[in-house]
Amino acid sequence: MATERTFSILKPDATRRNLTGTINAVFEENGLRIVAQKRIHMSRAQAETFYGVHRERGFFNDLVGFMTSGPVVVQVLEGEDAVAKHREIMGATNPANAAEGTIRKMFAESIEANSVHGSDSAENAATEIAYFFAGTDIVG
Ligand code: ATP
Ligand code: MG
Repeated sequence: MATERTFSILKPDATRRNLTGTINAVFEENGLRIVAQKRIHMSRAQAETFYGVHRERGFFNDLVGFMTSGPVVVQVLEGEDAVAKHREIMGATNPANAAEGTIRKMFAESIEANSVHGSDSAENAATEIAYFFAGTDIVG
């Protein structure tokens, strides 16, 4: 397995409850390394573009409202098999279905306010990283 990079967001429910360090400790304990990071308040346009794949879904407007409701932390994580490992540590989208010990099981408030985002493929990771970071922002 190769070292790869993935894109992570600590969502507004996590920043509101001051959980950014607690959640990142779980990533670090599992061998993922934070190689770029910034705290931003996403604009509506940024959130709509980022979640554009879900534009036709019934929850899209609520999701964009939620993602712009407070600050988020956007970051790049690096490690062995980082895309799949990150998704495994996050747990299922709906915390009701998430496995014990996953971040969403431990911290998510609801299927929408589920604390974290993680890229679902290496290809999407590259696109998402480039949307928020310049190459020179990433220090491995
Ligand atoms: P993410 O892309 O944020 O990592 P995911 O890949 O597990 O999450 P997606 O299907 O891509 O799940 O959905 C994107 C986000 O939209 C979810 O994380 C959640 O915040 C929200 N969402 C998904 N399904 C629903 C739903 N049925 N009702 C409300 N919000 C939803
Ligand atoms: Mg997704």
